[in-house]
Amino acid sequence: MPGGHTHDMITVVTAVVLAPAAWLISPDHSLVTAFTITGAHLVSGLLFSCDLDIDSLEYKRWGPLRIIWWPYKEAVPHRSWISHGLIVGPLLRLAYFGVIMYALLWLILHAVDRADLWRSLGRVAAATLRENSGQSYAFLLGFVLGGAAHSIPDWITTGTKRTWNQWSKL
Ligand SMILES: [Zn+2]
Repeated sequence: MPGGHTHDMITVVTAVVLAPAAWLISPDHSLVTAFTITGAHLVSGLLFSCDLDIDSLEYKRWGPLRIIWWPYKEAVPHRSWISHGLIVGPLLRLAYFGVIMYALLWLILHAVDRADLWRSLGRVAAATLRENSGQSYAFLLGFVLGGAAHSIPDWITTGTKRTWNQWSKL
């Protein structure tokens, strides 16, 4: 399978191709939508990579914050459908990150006795998502594409290796 640096390069190259394509296919050729899709693609590939299921370059990139991903790395088998699944993989990582952030914020704000701030943050977040539903979908699309730019090269490399091994035995 390709190494971390190769995956980074694939993510960046596909983002360069994706940016104008996203602008072309977005309704009313919105630059904001193109930026959201491309940004989400980069964040997904470079930070929320499928290879967070091992002690990878992308895992180390989180620095001290990689502790957030430690339970994920330990629980998810490497290259299983949970981490490398085309749609399920990136969406599960996003949900996992959301749950961890939710729990951390809840703990911190309740520890400093600012439950009121917690409630207003929740209201603002819900309203922002509701009012920008188009951009939220664009973000999810870019995020899934960022995962696909990792999973597909992994599958191709594995398939090629398997075929090569079978042919070399003949
Ligand atoms: Zn991988």
